[in-house]
Amino acid sequence: MYPPPFRYHRAGSLKEAVALLAELGEEAKVLAGGQSLIPLMKLRLASPAHLVDLNFAPGLSYIRPENGEIRFGAMTRHAEIEYSEVVARIPILHDCASGIADVQVRSRGTLGGSLAEADPSGDWTPVLLTLETEVICVGPQGERSVPLAEFVTDAFTTVLAPTELVREVKVKLPPAKSGGAYVAFKRSAPVYATASAAVQLTLVDGDVCAQAAIALGGVGLTAIKAAEAEAALRGQRISAKTVEAAAEAAMRAADPQPDMRGSVAYKRVLIGALVRRAIDAAARRCRREQVEVSHQYA
Ligand SMILES: Cc1cc2nc3c(=O)[nH]c(=O)nc-3n(C[C@H](O)[C@H](O)[C@H](O)COP(=O)(O)OP(=O)(O)OC[C@H]3O[C@@H](n4cnc5c(N)ncnc54)[C@H](O)[C@@H]3O)c2cc1C
Repeated sequence: MYPPPFRYHRAGSLKEAVALLAELGEEAKVLAGGQSLIPLMKLRLASPAHLVDLNFAPGLSYIRPENGEIRFGAMTRHAEIEYSEVVARIPILHDCASGIADVQVRSRGTLGGSLAEADPSGDWTPVLLTLETEVICVGPQGERSVPLAEFVTDAFTTVLAPTELVREVKVKLPPAKSGGAYVAFKRSAPVYATASAAVQLTLVDGDVCAQAAIALGGVGLTAIKAAEAEAALRGQRISAKTVEAAAEAAMRAADPQPDMRGSVAYKRVLIGALVRRAIDAAARRCRREQVEVSHQYA
């Protein structure tokens, strides 16, 4: 199906994009990779009167290590993250980028677009919630830095004003002896996950967990930070018993909706299994074992 008519504006710079959004107001939408927006327009679930294309604005696509952080330009594609040697320092980011849909979607879709879309089943938000992540937003009033935990406020909703856009995403490098893993369960490659688990750990003194961050995807209106599951690991030795306690706490934290992907009970059991697998892979990565993590398929 064709989308309703709209006017196309090619921004030649970030400054021009901000000026266009200020001029066009709520009738305008930013076009990044178009992998969510264009299908929604074709289905007539979105009908912006104006599209402001960021694809020709220079300086918005980069992966830069700087001052203990990795900085990502908003227009950085999933595929660029997948193949980045800089990103290899945070393996959970590679797990995420390499598992998103298929090559076509990964080659066009962007990190900034994914966060701005705030799809409850999106992969980036749970993963980045397990790291210290800041979203740099820019609008007519200038820039502001928003912690990711405050950026997404509801399903498909963020703190962005209609005149603001995401310019950069900053991720702090985890401390030494850290490891993370992201495992999603999918019915097939080019669909969103039924559920997913992101786990980032720091282990000291022979497997004692100094820090734990656990986030769940696809089982709530937004990604869920599973605080009780994190507490079940923190200060404890990683063992079958502590892993089980964390998995059970994650199942309690999940708030899934029944849909074509499965019932509430099914998704709860699934999230427990994904958390167990992600903890195992994260702990092994803390011990510097080479662990390949890939999504689980039905
Ligand atoms: C078949 C298919 C399968 C997919 N599977 C998955 C999956 O498994 N996991 C997953 O995470 N994603 C999946 N996606 C979505 C994909 O990751 C998209 O890339 C992503 O959701 C949106 O990024 P985009 O760059 O394409 O944004 P667009 O579609 O261009 O924009 C999405 C929204 O964000 C806004 N926006 C974009 N960039 C900015 C910005 N810099 N600042 C402010 N607002 C902005 C737009 O105005 C729009 O509202 C899939 C998409 C398709 C088509």
